Amino acid sequence: MAILDTRMECCPREELEQLQLERLQSVLNRVYKNVAFYRGLFDARSIVPEDVCAIADFQKLPFTTRADLAANYPYGMFAVPLREVVRIHTVTDTTDTPTVVGYSAHDLRIWAGLVARFLSAADVTRDDVIQISFRYGLFSGAFGLHQGAEQIGASVIPASSEHTDRQIRIMQDYRTSVLVSTPSFALLLADRMEALGIDPKRLVLKRGLFGGEIWSEATRSRIEQRLLIETFDNYGVSELMGPGIAGECRERSGLHICEDHILPEIIDPQTGDALPAGRTGELVLTTLSREAFPLVRYRTGDLASLTYEPCACGRTLARMSRVERRLDDIIIVKGINIVPQQIEKILTDIEGVEPVYRVIVERDGNRDRLTLHAAVSEHVFFDEIKHHAAFAERLRTELSRRLGLRVEVKLMEKRTLDRELETGPRVVDTRTL
Ligand SMILES: [Zn+2]
Repeated sequence: MAILDTRMECCPREELEQLQLERLQSVLNRVYKNVAFYRGLFDARSIVPEDVCAIADFQKLPFTTRADLAANYPYGMFAVPLREVVRIHTVTDTTDTPTVVGYSAHDLRIWAGLVARFLSAADVTRDDVIQISFRYGLFSGAFGLHQGAEQIGASVIPASSEHTDRQIRIMQDYRTSVLVSTPSFALLLADRMEALGIDPKRLVLKRGLFGGEIWSEATRSRIEQRLLIETFDNYGVSELMGPGIAGECRERSGLHICEDHILPEIIDPQTGDALPAGRTGELVLTTLSREAFPLVRYRTGDLASLTYEPCACGRTLARMSRVERRLDDIIIVKGINIVPQQIEKILTDIEGVEPVYRVIVERDGNRDRLTLHAAVSEHVFFDEIKHHAAFAERLRTELSRRLGLRVEVKLMEKRTLDRELETGPRVVDTRTL
């Protein structure tokens, strides 16, 4: 079992906490000086960075939320001039106001190093052929994994969002030993292999590193049994850096957080009070080394717990539980985050449909399906069935295009839909993860 950075990953807690405090003070000074948003926030509470002399003081600082990031679109949260930014990603490329995240050259180096840590923890080495089946683009997931894998010296295949048959072909012909994807995509590949009569025993595939969506131990077992591989969970938050925040070691009992670069807290989402280790609450993260896009007490919206108990692997870094669920109503389908407000916005733009809707997410086999029940305006009268079908098709095309995934549409009378919404939730997710 390989520990890439023994000095930091196995650092005595006392020493680690001292490092965290020093880095935290430097972050607070930098954001106060360079980010108008933070200066305003601290000034409004009469806080100066020097007030933070211990980690406990830090808990007096206000939180940063997703809404703050949106309000400072596009570059308001950057702490360095744009000429020092060498990479720009967005959190999701499907919203009308995405969050823009910048990276300096130093940020990219740190990011690759942190991804390399969890790849090493899963025994990925330079002898591996690693197939990255995350979509390359504005989304940061694929790039983060790519850089980390290259740093280790593995042979990287940027398979991206190629069709399943092509992914399987690559896996067979290029002798992929490690698959990187969402867990649901791994199951989709298993289904397709079965349909094509491909025996996973004949593949070179040994391990899978999965992330990008919430999954369970049951899903882990299913993937392992069907693809005959070992699987490892990793956790990322695109607002911070995507993958690289935490990852499982061989013990697979929690994900080690790179605490030398990210300071984690768990809070009560209602009161904002800090919760002790072991209690489940909202995960809040502070970047300790980011130059271009530092975040202080960022509320991730993910529910998890922390443990500081020593791990049998020898690492001293705290472990977070798997994320059990999200606090808000963000729907994650095929690795794409969809905020219900986006759907509302699209519907508002289309004549003949009301911004009244219901979202149904189902899992058909291992394929996720998103169906939208939409209300047709009173004045739109379909005298012919073909007009009805053509309108539904137009809506389907527009939603699919703007959300970046296939959406089914069912048109309904507004009255009927209103009644449904009175008695049930707007988002119905029937997937058992
Ligand atoms: Zn461990």
